Amino acid sequence: MAADAQATRELADLLGPDLLVTPDACVAFDCDALTAHRHPPELVALPTTVEQVQAILRVCHRHGVPVVARGSGTGLSGGALPVAGGLLLVLSRLNRILEIDAERCIARVQPGVTNLAISDAAAPDGLYYAPDPSSQVACSVGGNVAENSGGVHCLKYGLTVHNVLEVKLVTMAGDMITLGADTGEAPGLNLLGVVIGSEGMLGVVVEVTVRLLPLPGRVELLLAAFDDVGRCADAVGRLIAAGVVPAGLEMMDAPAIRAAEAFAQCGYPLDAQALLLCEVDGLAADVEHELGRAQDLLLAAGASSLRIAADADERRRMWSGRKSAFPAVGRLAPDYYCMDGTIPRRHLAAVLERIAALSREYRLAVANVFHAGDGNLHPLILFDAGQDDELARAERFGAEILEACVAAGGTVTGEHGVGVEKLGPMCSQFGAPELEAFHALKRAFDPAGLLNPGKAVPTLQRCAEYGAMRVHGGHLPFPHLPRF
Ligand SMILES: Cc1cc2nc3c(=O)[nH]c(=O)nc-3n(C[C@H](O)[C@H](O)[C@H](O)COP(=O)(O)OP(=O)(O)OC[C@H]3O[C@@H](n4cnc5c(N)ncnc54)[C@H](O)[C@@H]3O)c2cc1C
Repeated sequence: MAADAQATRELADLLGPDLLVTPDACVAFDCDALTAHRHPPELVALPTTVEQVQAILRVCHRHGVPVVARGSGTGLSGGALPVAGGLLLVLSRLNRILEIDAERCIARVQPGVTNLAISDAAAPDGLYYAPDPSSQVACSVGGNVAENSGGVHCLKYGLTVHNVLEVKLVTMAGDMITLGADTGEAPGLNLLGVVIGSEGMLGVVVEVTVRLLPLPGRVELLLAAFDDVGRCADAVGRLIAAGVVPAGLEMMDAPAIRAAEAFAQCGYPLDAQALLLCEVDGLAADVEHELGRAQDLLLAAGASSLRIAADADERRRMWSGRKSAFPAVGRLAPDYYCMDGTIPRRHLAAVLERIAALSREYRLAVANVFHAGDGNLHPLILFDAGQDDELARAERFGAEILEACVAAGGTVTGEHGVGVEKLGPMCSQFGAPELEAFHALKRAFDPAGLLNPGKAVPTLQRCAEYGAMRVHGGHLPFPHLPRF
């Protein structure tokens, strides 16, 4: 379906060469990082000002043209996948840091600013922005807000939602609204919380005010190797139950360790079946104490060896393996499919075992590298889309992993969002009343359903087809799944 001709003329008047209309120009935007789903957009707008964003939305609103916002396109669930007959609104040119207020520890930025650029800009003042997705060199703050992104340090310092104070949002009708407050306390309904994680369905983020934290006085990184995946997984819960809350607590299994070592030469033990990277930070005396406790607890939990990074250089090298693990694992097969589910920490070992069993059943290899402290799993399923049914098998394998997460009392997404990828699994997570509440909220912001249509929240009809619930009977649990 072609986008409305009159709307296209009006948008061209507004944007000139910053409106892409030819298939050759638009094809570069046909997917995000979930490359299995592609749809070339018919129109791509590259605004450079907030006023242009408002004007674009007014035109699209008037003519009923669907709009999909896009930051850097690193999303892993197809959230920025273009829709038929719609416009892709790329925010990456709104990339100015508007203010660093060191005294108040806040930064005000445009949505296209990359995550890491905030910390880089704040570093001279001894400050940084804590949420740190592994994609932080590339992903945009607007995308982080839309996905409520997490990262290695979110265990101690919280997700995006805990670190954003205020958002300026342009509605589909082109109005600008301010949600939250840079003081951290805003009267009225908490719509800021509603918008963070709303996957571009409620409005377009055009400005974000974030909280900055003082750079810690001392940081130490401990690598604990294990001969057994289950023991490593159990150590996570034991550590936190004992009151040690590391700044980051990441786990990798043997395939991920080997791939990361080959890619980044980061000094990982190649004979280990699993490892934990445990970072502690804070005041020097506290770190000393916490590090000692972490070592004792990890040894008691069955670690076969411990190593503390000797200095900042070694720490960076050890983290580089974890942070580049996705591309590293990506070299093992023509394609990989990154899953994202969250479970209570106490079920880590059992769910990892279930994933290993599914890997055998589906005859597809899997590597695990994830935010263990948050119970946020990232199984990377390896496959070759060029081989007969491997893509379909990988998708079924992925859906079963998410169902296992739900059965364990967890969720179908930790930080990558639902997008188009997890519409089915959302039906196992929620019943009809919750889904109807989500749709009602969407209608309140966007009555015509033009913003990112078909993403993030499945229709009841779709769920009926998915077979996970009865449209009139509410949520059906999965009786065939193992109970945890
Ligand atoms: C190698 C790799 C590692 C990753 N590691 C992590 C990780 O550790 N933690 C994590 O949480 N994620 C991770 N991700 C996923 C991804 O980077 C995050 O979801 C990120 O926040 C997406 O930002 P983006 O700018 O690329 O958004 P996009 O992919 O462009 O868009 C994502 C969603 O946000 C919406 N959106 C974008 N900008 C706006 C806006 N201004 N207003 C309204 N809606 C908007 C889009 O419509 C879409 O629904 C990783 C991805 C990759 C490829």
